[in-house]
Amino acid sequence: MKTAQVWEDKIIIKNTKDERLNGRKGAIVRPLGCGLCGSDIVKFREKIVHNGAVLGHEIVAVIDEIESETSFKKGDRIVTSHHIPCGNCVYCKHGNVSMCEHFKSTNIFPGGFSEKVYVSEEHLKNVAHLVPDNITNEEISFYEPLGCCIRAIKRCSLMSGDNILVIGLGSIGLLMGEGIKAFGYKVYGCDLIEERINLGNKLGIESYYSGNLESFNELIQSKSGGIDAVFMTSGADKALEVALKVVRKGGKILVFSSTPKSTGYPNNEIYYKELTVMGSYSPSPKDLQDSFDLITSKKVNVSGLTTVYSLDNIQQAFDDTITNKILKAYIKIS
Ligand SMILES: [Zn+2]
Ligand SMILES: [Zn+2]
Repeated sequence: MKTAQVWEDKIIIKNTKDERLNGRKGAIVRPLGCGLCGSDIVKFREKIVHNGAVLGHEIVAVIDEIESETSFKKGDRIVTSHHIPCGNCVYCKHGNVSMCEHFKSTNIFPGGFSEKVYVSEEHLKNVAHLVPDNITNEEISFYEPLGCCIRAIKRCSLMSGDNILVIGLGSIGLLMGEGIKAFGYKVYGCDLIEERINLGNKLGIESYYSGNLESFNELIQSKSGGIDAVFMTSGADKALEVALKVVRKGGKILVFSSTPKSTGYPNNEIYYKELTVMGSYSPSPKDLQDSFDLITSKKVNVSGLTTVYSLDNIQQAFDDTITNKILKAYIKIS
């Protein structure tokens, strides 16, 4: 089988032995495609993974071989995510399921950018779904990323009538904006790239250019009457500045991206403005279920966000994502 592996600063296609069940429970699936996640880019760029690692976790796949107590069968088209919480540890009990050791240790193998992938019985039982016929592979590949957004929205405990600003209108910012809208809150967006601002507006997220901090702040305050929460899908220094400027006293900042350097939020801003700054990382099985429902009911529109690349051309997908040439890459595998 072909797999796309990280080797130093390249993604290289290698032929490896077919993944088989070999007596294990679970399924061997044939990925039809896999979304390229921002976290894959970070792992590749910051060299967080070892040579030979196969990235990709946003898979839609057909079951090739199965040994399972679930009702899934050979030939089913499924979507799955990659981590499962234990449900019993201190993190799980406090709702921080993505901090759970078991969550971090579970994964699909070897990774989504591969012609065959092992999906464990635990995955099938907890985070896999049968994809309805009227949903395309590209649409359902947003199952895990939208799940991440839904978790962030829930963690923020918003109130009805709240005004939200999403900073950064890349694919995840747009998805976040759509998710916030689907939950019934008023959502604004901002970015520095005109194309993305236009796309935000097209998707019903009232979006503006935030390159000039003073004039953007004036504009957003007059439009909204006050920003109750800011969702940071960008970790740039400039984005942090915007967040601290626009958020109202007593408001919330939801951190949803890593920062290239170790910049942070100034203590005194948090103290004097009584801000709540909180992170949200990866989804729980319930968030994923909600994401599945929103995509399959078409309450969140994810069509037109992706650019398709073949597995052989995956390096280009990484390059084009890094240079902001595209919003979101979807790797077509079979
Ligand atoms: Zn992802
Ligand atoms: Zn746990």
